[in-house]
Amino acid sequence: MQAVAHYTAYKPRPFTREERQHVTILFGGLTWKHERLIQATMHNLGYNAQPLPNIRRSDLDAGKELIDVGACCPTIFTTGNLVNFLKSEVARRGRDEVVNKYVFLTAGACGPCRFGQYHESYTMALDGLGLRDFRLFLLAQNQLDQGAAAGGGLEINLALSLGLVWAILCADVLTDMEYLTRPYEVVPGQTEEVLRESIEELYEVFRNRPIQGREGNKWKILGWHYLTDYFTDALERVRKKWEAIEVDRLRVKPKVKITGEFWLQTHEGEGNYNMKRWLEQEGAEVIPPPVAVWLDYLLHSPILKLEKRRRHERRARLKIAIIRALEHIFHRTYNRFRQALGGLPYELPDQEELKRLADPYYHYELRGGEGHMLVGKALYAYLHKKAHMICELSPYSCMPNTMSIGAMAQVQGKYPDMLYAPIEVKGDAEIHALSRCQMILTEAKKRAQQEFEQALAETGLTVEAIRAVEARHPELTRSTYRIPHYGYAGTAANYVVHIARKWRRALA
Ligand code: SF4
Repeated sequence: MQAVAHYTAYKPRPFTREERQHVTILFGGLTWKHERLIQATMHNLGYNAQPLPNIRRSDLDAGKELIDVGACCPTIFTTGNLVNFLKSEVARRGRDEVVNKYVFLTAGACGPCRFGQYHESYTMALDGLGLRDFRLFLLAQNQLDQGAAAGGGLEINLALSLGLVWAILCADVLTDMEYLTRPYEVVPGQTEEVLRESIEELYEVFRNRPIQGREGNKWKILGWHYLTDYFTDALERVRKKWEAIEVDRLRVKPKVKITGEFWLQTHEGEGNYNMKRWLEQEGAEVIPPPVAVWLDYLLHSPILKLEKRRRHERRARLKIAIIRALEHIFHRTYNRFRQALGGLPYELPDQEELKRLADPYYHYELRGGEGHMLVGKALYAYLHKKAHMICELSPYSCMPNTMSIGAMAQVQGKYPDMLYAPIEVKGDAEIHALSRCQMILTEAKKRAQQEFEQALAETGLTVEAIRAVEARHPELTRSTYRIPHYGYAGTAANYVVHIARKWRRALA
């Protein structure tokens, strides 16, 4: 008679302190910029760490083979990414070396979306690969100090968590610089070059952070991150590199705000049809979504629950006050980083405003995916004239996103003028997705051109007159020169108004 194999939940073998020297922590899921700075933070604390290769289309196929068919597309892509990496390493080094040399660190969550079950997909894939003894560890998104994993090889403490958050914020502001500059660069490829140099400089800054994780006092670690100029000084040095880039802001381009599911909107590569690069190649300026908005949401969302418990829970007020203080630290830090880069990166949207805007269409307490933010961000961009068009990236087989898209139908009913392109990403329907986006982009291009002509007509300026001002004031053509928002969505139109206001006398 065949023996019954009972189900046992996956439990990783301990990862011991002694193993830190020769075990590498694998991670992934963000952009190469975020991952490089995260790697620096891990190196700073004495870990070997390595991001997984950027997602490829072939990862989707590998994931589909090993996990359940109903999984959402980010789950399949990211699982397949780990699978392909492990397969190639097993082929190169042999099975035993791989299970002993690597551990995988991933974010965990609970709630109605797949994100709470990513680790289940990973363990299912490990079973399929015959690597059940490979170790993966979960990092809760909402706890800065989670203690040591079994064996003490990995310590999720304040030194690590704050390093990771600060690394993410720095990568966010530099990503904004990248997308603000590249569409207007005069020398093709220069933005990319400066961006890589900047990230490498910041890599050294994070790796040499004078916090080694052994400092016992948590307040001291928090105070150091919050109060010192260590990171802002580094960003100011980085800004000088960007000054070398010459830009032409008279190129009229539609601005496209990217929204959607967290992983899909953040990703830069084949996991979302390379949508951001494709939009740029089609002549658009892209507004990328900062990871910081998600962290801000995680931080802010418990407040409402606590407000409701105020009468019954004695400590609710105190907890609210602590969260508000942390929010203040978070926002101030982000704004300091923006200012160090000349105030060019975009400000973070106010979470209360996102909630208020989304409220008639999507309830704030409906959790899962981006929650109400998908609706709130689209309205924020539209009503504040931050973009001509919204490109929303939805993964197939995503329940929370399906609800948000349903809510967006009502938003569009109220604002038929909003240019909104919901793109479903399946991994194998690229032409369909891009052509759909192109149709809306054509309309956005017309709007950008109309705005530009309106700005010229209102100010009485001509392109030749602006060129003459630029010749006398070459600082205007530097990528670090900040153009304020004068109520137009497009960069070129705001630039015209700026020249008219600031150089009126010179133009008379
Ligand atoms: S939000 Fe949707 S796509 Fe993202 S992890 Fe959850 S279920 Fe998957």
